[in-house]
Amino acid sequence: MTVYNFCAGPAMLPPEVMKKAQQEFLNWQNLGVSVMEVSHRAQPYLEMVKECEASLRRLMDISDEFEVLFMHGGGRGQFAAVPLNLHLDDAPGVYVENGIWSSGATKEGAKFTQVEGINIRTDVDGQFDIQPVEQWKLPEKASFIHFCPNETIDGIEIYDVPKHDAPIVADMSSMILSREINVDDFDLIYAGAQKNIGPSGLCIVIVRKTLLEREGLPRPAILDYAIEAKQGSMYNTPPTFAWYLANEVFQYLESIGGVKAMEAHNKKKAAILYDYIDSSDFYSNKVAKHCRSLMNVPFWLKDDTLNDKFLSEAEAAGLLALEGHRFVGGMRASIYNAMPVEGIEALVAFMDKFAKENS
Ligand code: PMP
Repeated sequence: MTVYNFCAGPAMLPPEVMKKAQQEFLNWQNLGVSVMEVSHRAQPYLEMVKECEASLRRLMDISDEFEVLFMHGGGRGQFAAVPLNLHLDDAPGVYVENGIWSSGATKEGAKFTQVEGINIRTDVDGQFDIQPVEQWKLPEKASFIHFCPNETIDGIEIYDVPKHDAPIVADMSSMILSREINVDDFDLIYAGAQKNIGPSGLCIVIVRKTLLEREGLPRPAILDYAIEAKQGSMYNTPPTFAWYLANEVFQYLESIGGVKAMEAHNKKKAAILYDYIDSSDFYSNKVAKHCRSLMNVPFWLKDDTLNDKFLSEAEAAGLLALEGHRFVGGMRASIYNAMPVEGIEALVAFMDKFAKENS
C-alpha cells in the first residue's frame, strides 16, 4: 500500500532525496563515515555548506544585499531573535495577526520589546477571512513589521506583501519555496526547515545586510544575526545532518525546475482538493477563497461525531496525519512541495467514498 503523509511538520520529504540520503548514510563522499560523523569545519562539509547556500540563492533569487543564515531553534527561536536583533528604543515591533502562529510571535516578542498587534482577521459567520494588505492599519513608526504569510494551523495565506519604511519580516516556515516571491520585497525572512526544506533542527534566515548594524537588545550569541553572519552560521556546532539534507532538497528542487515548477505543482494539488471540498455538502473549508493556503488545507466534516471514524479509516487506507490542530478541530491536509498529485487524488477518492458511506 502506498502511504501518503499529510503531517503539518515534520513533514514528508521528497522520496528521491530520502533514497539518496539512505544510500550515502554510512559513507558520505567516500569518506568512509556518515555525514553526521564529520566535523562541521572539515573541508567536504564546508564545501557542501557553500553549495547549499548558493543553491538556495539560485532557487529564491536572493541578491548579495542579503545574508543567508542557517540557525538553530526553529521558527520559535526566531520569535525571540527578531525582536532581540531589531528592537529600537523609540518604536514598537508591529505584529500583524491573522492566526495562531502570528499571535504566538507577538506574545514572544512582548517579552523583549514594546509590541503593537494589528488584528487583520474579519471572520463573519464562522468563515475565516482577512483584510487586504491595503487596509492594514500599520502605524507610521515601527522597529519592524512582522507577519506570517502562511498560517499553518488556520490554513490562511497572505499573497501580498505590505509596504512600509520599517523592515518587513516574514515567518515563511510553512510556505518557503512553495511559490515564487520577490525577496527584495522583504528585509528578513525566516523559516523552520521541517516542512519544505528538510528535517527539524534547522532554521533559515535571510536578512538584509544593513539590518546587521542594528544594536538591538543584549542577546545570546546563538541568536545574534551579526555573529552568525560573521561566523558563517558556525558560531557553535550547527545541526549538521539537517543542513546536509536541506542541501539535498535544494539540489533536487533545482533539478526539477525550481520554485516556478513547485508553484505550478502546488496550485494544481490545492485546486483538486479545494474544488472537491467545495463541491461536497459533507465537507467544508471555512477560509475565504482569496486567502486559502496552498500548503495547509483544513476541512471539517458536517457531522463531527464522525471525526474519529474518518481518521481511523483514512489511516487504514494509508492516508496519515490528517487530524486538524486541536485549536481549530476538524481535519487538515498539509500538502507541502513533496506531496505528489497522486497523494491528493488518493485523499479525494477516500473522502468521497467516506462521504457516500456515511451520508
Ligand atoms: N511559525 C509557523 C508558521 C509554523 O508553522 C511553526 C511550526 N509549525 C512555527 C512558527 C514554529 O516552528 P518551530 O516548531 O520550528 O519552532
